[in-house]
Amino acid sequence: MRYVQVDTQSDPLSDKQPTTEKQKDLSRILVHELVTMGISDAHLDEHGYVYATIPSNTDKDVPVICFCGHVDTAPDASGTGVIPILRQGYDGATITYPDNAHLTLSPADFPYLNQLKGHDIITASGTTLLGADDKAGVAAIMDAAHYLVRHSEIKHGTIRILFTPDEEVGKGTAKVDIKKLGAAFAYTLDGGEQGSLEDETFSADAVQLVIRGVITHPGYAKGKLVNAMKVAGDILSKLPKTHLSPETTEGHEGFIHPVRIDGSAERCTIDFIIRDFDTPELVIKEAVLKAAADEVVTNHPGASFDFIVTEQYRNMKEVLDKHPQVIAHAREAIARAGMTVTMESIRGGTDGSRLSFMGLPCANLFTGMQAIHSMKEFVSVQDMNKAVETIVYLVQVWEEREGAAAQ
Ligand SMILES: [Zn+2]
Repeated sequence: MRYVQVDTQSDPLSDKQPTTEKQKDLSRILVHELVTMGISDAHLDEHGYVYATIPSNTDKDVPVICFCGHVDTAPDASGTGVIPILRQGYDGATITYPDNAHLTLSPADFPYLNQLKGHDIITASGTTLLGADDKAGVAAIMDAAHYLVRHSEIKHGTIRILFTPDEEVGKGTAKVDIKKLGAAFAYTLDGGEQGSLEDETFSADAVQLVIRGVITHPGYAKGKLVNAMKVAGDILSKLPKTHLSPETTEGHEGFIHPVRIDGSAERCTIDFIIRDFDTPELVIKEAVLKAAADEVVTNHPGASFDFIVTEQYRNMKEVLDKHPQVIAHAREAIARAGMTVTMESIRGGTDGSRLSFMGLPCANLFTGMQAIHSMKEFVSVQDMNKAVETIVYLVQVWEEREGAAAQ
């Protein structure tokens, strides 16, 4: 509840690193708390990353494991002046907010609330997001660190802690120093429902379509002028209406999604995002889009277009499948903490997918956060505690299963 009161919203339009200086306000608090716990190497670097180490306390050689959370909150809703409210012993009723009479949170909208009867639930006050994404994850890592440094009877290898800025604006790993981090495997604490474990994200490309029309004085344009905006409109209207879009897909289905259009009669650009869990499917979806553009432009003689594909990120399962122990040990830890594991796929990207392809295989553990990026965002204290337990069991599973007798 202290962490969410620090405004750490990131800014998608900033080209600074971190995108907002205020994210470091929380990072400095975290460093101070880690040092106070006795984790003496904790520090904040100039790019806004916090690194810290809990030294190994076992005789065995165990791979170095990293736990990672992001300090920023999403730009989708205000993160300024967050007032967290602890609602003890949730009774299953609709929740109202002191600062917003129009806002309610009900089990009808969020059936997960039905599982949280008797839990202590934290919400915001109705005018801001809560920031449980990802301060619930940050808090879980901090609490687990605090527990481990006080319980030397729990054997573990070297544990690295990483807090990143700018995850919500896709720059969470932009300046991370993987070499300095020195971890073999990682877990982000950035997932939702109790017991959930995510090993899969979308694979993602961006496509920019640059359409050039033919411009003349409009008073003398008959038979000559080709309006790039009208060509763009025709291309958009050719996109499938019953499938292949975010609004018509779920589960494992991918999509083609125009996100921005910009231009004039002379020149118009459309930015698309292409998503699928199967990386080869991206090329197939890009071919559908290109075929639509080809067909439309052929019907507008004089018009032309460029089709620019940029790789954004890849499904982390491609990496995790080569290191099955990352998921196996997480499953074991969740089970030891008394929960049923639910495997989930993320219809988006995470820092974990980027880290995985930077050479640090990384899965995503639950924190309890719900209704993220909105004023209804909430989290159960008991779910957060289960995340802490899972971390504590997980480091022990790694020590037991992967620890080799030291040379
Ligand atoms: Zn997050």
